Amino acid sequence: MLLDGEGWAVDPKVTKQPYFNLRQGEMTAINGIVVHQTASPTLQSTLNSYQSANPNGAHFLIDKDGTLYQTASIRWLLWHVGKLRSRCLVRKVCTPKELKALNPGTWNPSGVHKIESRKKFPDRFPMNADSIGIEIVGNVIDESKDAVFETVTVAQNRSLQWLVAELCRLLSIPAAEIYRHPEISYKKPHEAETAQW
Ligand SMILES: [Zn+2]
Repeated sequence: MLLDGEGWAVDPKVTKQPYFNLRQGEMTAINGIVVHQTASPTLQSTLNSYQSANPNGAHFLIDKDGTLYQTASIRWLLWHVGKLRSRCLVRKVCTPKELKALNPGTWNPSGVHKIESRKKFPDRFPMNADSIGIEIVGNVIDESKDAVFETVTVAQNRSLQWLVAELCRLLSIPAAEIYRHPEISYKKPHEAETAQW
């Protein structure tokens, strides 16, 4: 795979299908990759949502059969991460001052996000401003509190593995900076659980 000057993948494995509504700004640094599942049943239902006003969405989308689409340039800042968890809390390395500000005994995602998003990478997790999003088509199959997602297909994981390896190689992203969405944000805990790269 190559990347052209506008941030689009050049490879027969990747179908370029831009959705301009996804663009929320310019992305000038890339420090990580966030792997998602769509919580939507089909490729088309996801693409339909990408045509709404100010949609959430990712740079790449992998269909059930492994077909790989690039829906946004990696130079575009998108909304795909949401509120950040605290990296120092997750890693248990917060300073006393950070702990006091984060107040981990309380449930306050907005407050935590506000503190974290002001930190410089890698003191925080990658966020919308500096991460590539990859969406895997996969719905929630159990809507109970601990929502369970469809299992990522073999073909999807094969495409994901290839894409992640190419992006890491081209953009010098370390393997440690690739995350399942719920690891870094307040999302359904099983999202992308069966994704492998
Ligand atoms: Zn997600």
